[in-house]
Amino acid sequence: MDAPLAPKARYDVAVVGGGITGCATAYELARAGASVALLERHEIGTEASGRNAGSLHGQIQYEPFRTRGEGWARGFLPALAFLHASLERWSTLSGELGTDLEVTRHGGLLLVEDQAELPFVEAKIALERATGVDSRLLDAGELRELAPWAAPSVVAAGFCPVEGKANPMLAAPAFARRAVAAGAEVFTRTAVTAVEPAAGEVRIVTPLRTFAADQVVLASGRRLSAQAAGLGARLAVSDEPVQVCATEPVEPLIHHLVYYAGERLTLKQARAGTVLIGGGWPARTDPTTGYPLVDMASLRSNLRVALTVAPQLAGALVIRSWAGVGNGTPDEGPLLGTLRSCDRVHAGLFPYMGLTAGPLMGEVLASLVQRRQPPVDLSPFAPERFEDR
Ligand SMILES: Cc1cc2nc3c(=O)[nH]c(=O)nc-3n(C[C@H](O)[C@H](O)[C@H](O)COP(=O)(O)OP(=O)(O)OC[C@H]3O[C@@H](n4cnc5c(N)ncnc54)[C@H](O)[C@@H]3O)c2cc1C
Repeated sequence: MDAPLAPKARYDVAVVGGGITGCATAYELARAGASVALLERHEIGTEASGRNAGSLHGQIQYEPFRTRGEGWARGFLPALAFLHASLERWSTLSGELGTDLEVTRHGGLLLVEDQAELPFVEAKIALERATGVDSRLLDAGELRELAPWAAPSVVAAGFCPVEGKANPMLAAPAFARRAVAAGAEVFTRTAVTAVEPAAGEVRIVTPLRTFAADQVVLASGRRLSAQAAGLGARLAVSDEPVQVCATEPVEPLIHHLVYYAGERLTLKQARAGTVLIGGGWPARTDPTTGYPLVDMASLRSNLRVALTVAPQLAGALVIRSWAGVGNGTPDEGPLLGTLRSCDRVHAGLFPYMGLTAGPLMGEVLASLVQRRQPPVDLSPFAPERFEDR
């Protein structure tokens, strides 16, 4: 995306970060008539937003449900409702953005091998149903009708009908293109080094020039907490380097987003036929550059788990593996709102499932800039909610 030669003297809004959150925000604001500068230190969608596994999540994740318990899961329900609302946007997003994002929503399967897990899966389903989603438990026969490839050892599955998949590499650039078409200016290879409130505006400092804007949206993913700290706000964001791999294309086999109750796994088949295998297995961090690297032991473990539930994949070659940095928050809920320390600056980060949340994150952040009532209640998501604890 070509950067304009000369930036305006002042923008209504500067958006920092060209991942799905920032691009969706720039799109919403530009189409509402705001003058927008989108600043990205690399290229659009090259960090987490372009490296993720493309799962469109709508269920409470099983691992935190088991390890953190039902109390945590109840607290997570507002975030789950947020994901559900964002999933609705995904259904029509390809048409809206004029790009086929390869979205399908056939539902998600949480495969269960060990009968002892069933009471937990049922309790999780009951909570999901409380949010109005028709999650249900499938017995072995019902499961095999949907997933004949599932290993004989799989005895049941939770089914969450709202889930699906998309091609992650397409989404952020599609939002950015539509933002530009609506008048936004995109400055790539433009690293923001400071965000400084000044009289009546905010200055956004980069190595080549300083931008001025009425308001700023921080959508900088793993850099968010450092940038907010410069404004006196303490945001609790952890970095979690994780990895994904893809097989060579195989015949159409798997139509759902697949998880496993026994160990970490997400598995789905992309339209191209490749099977994407992930689930949050840890990557390494290059000590010199700080960038994530694929960890071979993790890759082997991830593949072992995948073959446990889908043994038919044993003949498929893994052709690519990559790593990215995901983000966590202490309660796994998003950080989303206007900073207490500077009401011209708004922050947005949805941990772990930020691809799914991206379209609604953009809508909410735009509403904050426009000083409109956000489409969802943001009180559970206050960015500085951990500051006082
Ligand atoms: C391997 C992996 C698999 C995942 N799988 C899934 C999945 O299947 N489904 C799902 O929903 N989510 C998944 N996620 C999470 C999801 O990818 C992220 O939550 C989401 O992409 C976050 O989007 P973002 O725009 O907020 O952040 P990012 O995509 O990280 O974008 C932030 C942008 O800000 C830029 N930036 C940072 N600092 C500066 C600066 N100083 N100046 C200018 N620009 C700056 C960065 O270069 C980056 O492009 C996964 C994450 C990873 C790493």
